[in-house]
Amino acid sequence: MVRIGLGFDSHPFQEGRRLLLGGVDIPSPEGLKGHSDADPLLHAITDAILGAIGEKDIGELFPNTDPRWKDAPSQLFLEKALSLAREKGFRVVNLDCVIVADRPKISPYKDTIRENLSRLLGVKKENISIKGKTREGFCPDNGIACMCVVLLEDEG
Ligand SMILES: [Zn+2]
Repeated sequence: MVRIGLGFDSHPFQEGRRLLLGGVDIPSPEGLKGHSDADPLLHAITDAILGAIGEKDIGELFPNTDPRWKDAPSQLFLEKALSLAREKGFRVVNLDCVIVADRPKISPYKDTIRENLSRLLGVKKENISIKGKTREGFCPDNGIACMCVVLLEDEG
């Protein structure tokens, strides 16, 4: 049996914070505002996995009103989603992600992000796709949005 999941996340820019995408530090004069470390790619991937297995979403599992998740590394959320998937007998087959950002340019970091996701998810790098897109004038340019589709397969 296979399951598909879709995730979306966005955070506004904030000066004086780190910019993290897929757990990778991206050099940028501004980072992203959020309760946790505000990594929109890891949040989108986490929600895609949770959705594929019919679990509660990231906002329900890790509410932004809970002081435990203040500045928390988003890797923790992803690890929880992966362990819930494993408990149900699923493993990640592949993921396809879109990062919508006018700035900074994503292309120089795509490969590093894929490598880091490969390590975090235990999925081969060639089964991880990262696409960088610009807004082309759609919506205000005040943050970064990410989308992810993930395919899970029953290990049974
Ligand atoms: Zn988020």
